[in-house]
Amino acid sequence: ESASINTEVLVLGGGPGGYTAAFRAADLGKKVVIVERYGVLGGVCSNVGCIPSKALLHLAHTIHNAKEAAAHGVSFGEPQIDVDKVRAWKDKVVAGLATGLKGLAKQRQVQHVQGVGRFVAPNQMEVQTAEGVQRIVFENAIIASGSKPVKLPGMPWGDPRLMDSTDALALADIPKRLLIVGGGVIGMEMASVYHALGSKVSVVELASQLIPGCDPDLVRPLTLKVKKEYENVLLSTKVAKIEAKPEGLEVTFEGEGAPAPSLFDRVLVAVGRKPNSADLGLEALGLKADERGFIAVDNQQRTAVSHIFAIGDVVGNPMLAHKATHQGKVAAEVIAGHKVAFQALAIPSVAYTDPEVAWMGLTETEAQAQGVEYEKAVFPWAASGRAAGMNRKEGLTKILCDKNTQRVLGAGITGVNAGDLISEAMLALEMGADVEDIGLTIHPHPTLSETFAFAAEMVHGSITDLY
Ligand code: FAD
Repeated sequence: ESASINTEVLVLGGGPGGYTAAFRAADLGKKVVIVERYGVLGGVCSNVGCIPSKALLHLAHTIHNAKEAAAHGVSFGEPQIDVDKVRAWKDKVVAGLATGLKGLAKQRQVQHVQGVGRFVAPNQMEVQTAEGVQRIVFENAIIASGSKPVKLPGMPWGDPRLMDSTDALALADIPKRLLIVGGGVIGMEMASVYHALGSKVSVVELASQLIPGCDPDLVRPLTLKVKKEYENVLLSTKVAKIEAKPEGLEVTFEGEGAPAPSLFDRVLVAVGRKPNSADLGLEALGLKADERGFIAVDNQQRTAVSHIFAIGDVVGNPMLAHKATHQGKVAAEVIAGHKVAFQALAIPSVAYTDPEVAWMGLTETEAQAQGVEYEKAVFPWAASGRAAGMNRKEGLTKILCDKNTQRVLGAGITGVNAGDLISEAMLALEMGADVEDIGLTIHPHPTLSETFAFAAEMVHGSITDLY
């Protein structure tokens, strides 16, 4: 066993939550060690999540736009897809970020200890490294161990044709027939990618709509589009069984109108993620995860044990990188003695599908369930000159405001770049803007961002500066 390392702050996990916390703590003068199993920082997001998926989705959009231009008089040939080059390019994007993070850690003298960490005492961790056990003694710890895909039991895991999101992003090949189990954000993004690359895609979702959790009217344009493009979109349908056969994976469906068992070349299971909290030695800290595996924290990211903090996917939903990073900053600042708390009024969600679907704050479904008195307006992109020029009239921008104060409560945008556009709604919500403020704010014309101001104006009447 090598000499133990002493540090002021130990961060377990090098994902967006962990590295943000580590960098912030170092910037505030703390000595910081990150324990991360892999040789690179960045966690799920940079390596097998947000970034590689968006790199591939960029190609998917490029292919889609090129095909679509044919209807308007500009034709390109059939796309020639070299899957090895596509994979290499995606890997290069990911590697570039890893190099960047390594440099940022070095600059701050944040030490990365590579190995699997486990708490062994309230102020001690043991890390299983390639060279043996490394003991670390710390004053404060931040648990940022993230999450992993749920592997439904009874499926032939171990058969390489059955994939989780990490396998799907590895892009081993382009299957002829691909089934995606789970029509949530991750499933639908991967569906977009494989469809563009030439797979015949089917999606099966247990709920009665795609992207459960988002308002049905926002999801509708996406559903209509993929129903046209994909081989099959099965809602309210369950996968009862997957059997490995030499000629493919045979999938049995259950539900009203469920199709007969069918063979697929590959199946991607994207039915959710679960927190990494099982093997961390939490008991040595006097901590226990809840029945779903989440670690409870207060709004300063402090666990039930005062010198232990937790952030990101391991503390609960939504499991999103921008939540993890913001919580990471809070934890680091609290450790450095600042009086801060995680007090976000909303956390935006985005499906980077085609069209994109983005929403934030109160959804209409929630407003109705909670009996909130709200007013709303929906601006159809069919009335946007810019959307017309892009032939993307299926989009819509929706705004919900408080009936009495007129302040923004929630918003949703479906269409090209919705993920970028939703930030304006976030700002409006955090700043306490009312719909009149938004309508009076001059937006550049012709842009998709105008649709947010149009929706705000629509709450109280007609828009005259249309198109
Ligand atoms: P993670 O990123 O999960 O990092 C945790 C790290 O801890 C891992 O690197 C792990 O190796 C390490 N670790 C865990 N236990 C130990 C241990 N005992 N010892 C050593 N190391 C350990 N979010 C978005 O906001 N936008 C997106 O577009 C988006 N797209 C996604 C696409 C896909 C396909 C997936 C799977 C996820 C996506 N997410 C997206 C979610 C996002 O990746 C996560 O919310 C984010 O990575 C969580 O960050 P984190 O720091 O909590 O943990």
